[in-house]
Amino acid sequence: MFIKDLFLHKKLTISFELFPPKQSVSLDGIYNTIAELKELNPDFISVTYGAGGSSKDRSIELASAVKNKFGIETVAHLTCITSTKREVKNTLDKLQENNIDNILALRGDIPKDFVLPENLEYNSSKDLICELAQRKGFCISAAAYPEGYMGSMDIDREIKSLRDKVDCGAEVLITQLFFNNNSFYDFKEKLYKYNINTPVIAGVMPAVDRDLINRISWISGASIPDRLKKLLDKYQYSPESLLEAGTVYASEQVSDLVASGVEGIHLYTMNKSEIVKKILKSVEEIRKSVNYKSVSSF
Ligand code: FAD
Repeated sequence: MFIKDLFLHKKLTISFELFPPKQSVSLDGIYNTIAELKELNPDFISVTYGAGGSSKDRSIELASAVKNKFGIETVAHLTCITSTKREVKNTLDKLQENNIDNILALRGDIPKDFVLPENLEYNSSKDLICELAQRKGFCISAAAYPEGYMGSMDIDREIKSLRDKVDCGAEVLITQLFFNNNSFYDFKEKLYKYNINTPVIAGVMPAVDRDLINRISWISGASIPDRLKKLLDKYQYSPESLLEAGTVYASEQVSDLVASGVEGIHLYTMNKSEIVKKILKSVEEIRKSVNYKSVSSF
């Protein structure tokens, strides 16, 4: 199933991101996590590509397991900057052999020790998106950055980049994580103004580990609002308290997004199901009523 079709009959989608464990680690642990996440009825689970020290084959193996072993729709992330056209073609063939219909098309980051060839075959995600659109057979998603790329805040450049991605064939946008909903609302207004009407799924990461959140904020440019900064500082030596406070913060963030009519929530699970369970439990009724209203209004 193409994930773009979810938006034809749902007002709110719920999805999760997983990353594949390292090659040396058995997949049993992540399979348990997927089984627990399945109980939460996600609309899809996305699987990162080559990130977190995992091999690319592992990404395909995990995406395939989500779809074929657990029967959950999946979105396979795919990066292109370090790939040749031939490598991408081989990967796309494998994804199709594994019944994977959805791709999050990304440029990817250049690893520190990677020597870039003189003639790059891909320069940006746009190149990959155009190629996927020509090939046909996949629903194409692309990344969006509500606070600008790497926090550059050059929102006009960001909108132009999104315009290009959508014009090439991106049908769904999934955002970088953010902790400040207002940045997402401002971003959505800009998209509306520039007539970018593609469904936008909001990326939310529960802030339950201070060092991780500071590192991710530094890498991604996601700003940390004062209220969250206070929680991270206050409970830095009390993991249990931070777990609780961070889960409440994320639940409030999700609840506010849903109340504001967001089309989808994509939870960055860090491969842990417990926190996600708590967040979704806290918005269970809201979630039900949103989709009930959309179905009953036909
Ligand atoms: P692009 O769409 O090519 O562009 C990125 C940004 O660069 C644009 O948003 C724009 O602001 C800016 N830009 C575009 N053109 C220009 C230009 N000409 N000059 C200057 N700036 C320009 N990485 C992984 O390795 N594996 C993953 O699985 C993965 N999953 C991700 C999932 C999500 C939801 C997100 C948001 C990111 C993910 N990433 C992943 C990280 C991503 O690969 C990096 O952020 C990468 O640096 C940019 O990828 P992109 O597809 O957004 O790039």
